[in-house]
Amino acid sequence: QTYVAASSRYDQMKFRRCGKSGLDLPAISLGLWHNFGHSDDFKLGREIVRTAFDLGITHFDLANNYGPPYGAAEENFGRIFKKDLLPYRDELLISSKAGWDMWPGPYGNFGSKKYLVASLNQSLKRMGLEYVDIFYHHRPDPNTPLEETMSALDLLVRQGKALYVGISQYSAEDTAKASKILNELGTPCLIHQPRYNMMDRWVEDGLLQVLEKSGIGAIAFSPLEQGVLTDKYLNGFPEDSRAVKDGRYLKSDAITPEILAKVKALNAIAIERGQSLAQMAIAWLLKSPAITSVLVGVSKAGQLHDNVKSLDNLDFSTAELKNIEAILKE
Ligand code: NDP
Repeated sequence: QTYVAASSRYDQMKFRRCGKSGLDLPAISLGLWHNFGHSDDFKLGREIVRTAFDLGITHFDLANNYGPPYGAAEENFGRIFKKDLLPYRDELLISSKAGWDMWPGPYGNFGSKKYLVASLNQSLKRMGLEYVDIFYHHRPDPNTPLEETMSALDLLVRQGKALYVGISQYSAEDTAKASKILNELGTPCLIHQPRYNMMDRWVEDGLLQVLEKSGIGAIAFSPLEQGVLTDKYLNGFPEDSRAVKDGRYLKSDAITPEILAKVKALNAIAIERGQSLAQMAIAWLLKSPAITSVLVGVSKAGQLHDNVKSLDNLDFSTAELKNIEAILKE
């Protein structure tokens, strides 16, 4: 049946300006790292994407190697895009990345111009798009001159294959260098995509300051620590959870009793605030003006409804923040 986007799609979502650019991002974006591979349920993926857009989530984040197998998430997103989202292309921000291993040989990994240009061409074909809105270098490559990698990003914008560019996982120092080169080339860095959540705080040690100073936006990935910052593991390990069902990146034995004790204490604060822990973890990131968007993954469409409700309470009292810090420092 033909999909018609909900007419209420912009009623609830909040939009935030991305650094010093003209672009607004939804406060919550959807990532397709998990649940969009060829062994995943295509119908469920389609329902997740449609639900996201109906909730005002206009930003879908992909990468060349999301799957499995590599490329599958872009292929599946391309199918969904063609079936459901084509009439809405101008309401969407679609991103992809290259920087990790993608194909064999010396030209399918890291940060050369050869790799980035070929990879984006492949991504566009898989997704059936003429351009992506944001193209990222997925991780720093210490063995390639930063000038070469940044000039590849600049070239792709000039070719019309990407509208904006970003970097992911770059340190504060490398971000400052990359931003300077991109500014000189005339293609400013729009956004940085770092890992950031209540339990992983490395960005607070310099990166956020560099981003604010340079006018670069930030989109936080793994904001729920892959599901650990929810109430799902408090009473055992559910069969349908990432730690049990997948286990590639989130191993159940990494979710230790010590971590669960912290999660339980955080969950109590969330309940007092009238939120789920997932909602509180998202709100906690959005309290920082440096964070443009929070990039969640979901395995069920219902989780998106839950996550978007975090926008109903983004304020934290000083006491709540102090209590959260005390729990995390224990
Ligand atoms: P999250 O930390 O949001 O973890 C997602 C998982 O959390 C879901 O699969 C689900 O787990 C659980 N979850 C989400 N919402 C809820 C809820 N309301 N209640 C209960 N559980 C919930 O993010 P990801 O680790 O998935 O990363 C998000 C995106 O970030 C990726 O898709 C990708 O786009 C990007 N990313 C970028 C990287 C980079 O290097 N730039 C690296 C990694 C990710 P379950 O499956 O158990 O239900």
